[in-house]
Amino acid sequence: MASAQGRKNSNSDTKKSQKFKTVGGKSSDKNEDCQVCSSPVEMDQKGIECEICKHWFHANCVDIEDSEYEVLTSHKKGSIHWYCDDCNVKSIELLKLVFNIQEKMQKSEIKSEKMKTETNAKFQKIE
Ligand SMILES: [Zn+2]
Ligand SMILES: [Zn+2]
Repeated sequence: MASAQGRKNSNSDTKKSQKFKTVGGKSSDKNEDCQVCSSPVEMDQKGIECEICKHWFHANCVDIEDSEYEVLTSHKKGSIHWYCDDCNVKSIELLKLVFNIQEKMQKSEIKSEKMKTETNAKFQKIE
């Protein structure tokens, strides 16, 4: 008896890429290193996550005052709006860009206003 059964391909040898960290010991949920001092942000330390780059920082390392930190962390998770210096610079650049565009638009508005008055003046001259 010949049974023609298709062999099932079992992908048992999918390689698991494991990261080896030289940080020994304590296990914490926040397994992230502070981007300023490059030491891990432990659960019992005041840490904050940048909303843009998702990096963790010690509150102390980014000059966040205790009162400020409490305000930031009293919000529900996901509604914390804090950006690290790096991202702040980027957002400022973005703001500048937006501001520049607004300024240009205003300038062109002024220009068209000027042209209107100029043409009006010309018309008045003709009359
Ligand atoms: Zn730090
Ligand atoms: Zn950031």
